[in-house]
Amino acid sequence: MTTLLYFVVTLVVVGVLYALLRRPVGEYVRMRGTRVISCPDNQQPAAVTVDAGHAAFTAAGGHEHLRLDSCSRWPEKAGCGQECLKQIETQPMDCLVRTQVSRWYADKACAICGKALGAVDWASHKPALRAPDGRTMEWGDVKPEAMFQVMGTHAAICWDCHVAETFRRQRPDLVLDNPFARQNQR
Ligand SMILES: [Zn+2]
Repeated sequence: MTTLLYFVVTLVVVGVLYALLRRPVGEYVRMRGTRVISCPDNQQPAAVTVDAGHAAFTAAGGHEHLRLDSCSRWPEKAGCGQECLKQIETQPMDCLVRTQVSRWYADKACAICGKALGAVDWASHKPALRAPDGRTMEWGDVKPEAMFQVMGTHAAICWDCHVAETFRRQRPDLVLDNPFARQNQR
């Protein structure tokens, strides 16, 4: 009897917690991450993060309120009206850097090996970039607010080619290109 009672009480507690926390936890997860918006002050891209904790807390109270946690134009423009939040409210996932970058790679092939890049594996084999001067880099080296500019000037490459190119650059003495592969390219 006692076991059954514990079981029922546990079920009720879990059910109540789920009902109470589902929205704020979901909101917290949704509002995390860096976003690039068009700053209403100068119409230029700016990188912002939303205060996800505040969004979750206010969502739990039934009236979600967004506020910025950081902006690439702060501290110079700190105290602005945070008008860009309207863009985040209407398209919260669209302005996420990760969404934009994934979309950019979706229909691209690696500029070095030609492999289709498709869906991005952010966990282990995230795709990279090749600058006009040939240097390869990762998205972690790019300022989010420069994202659209970089997309216009840099080429999409796969993770394997980035690793190979980095190694080639750092240790040219250790790299010997496959002569047969070169013959085939001729
Ligand atoms: Zn490649």
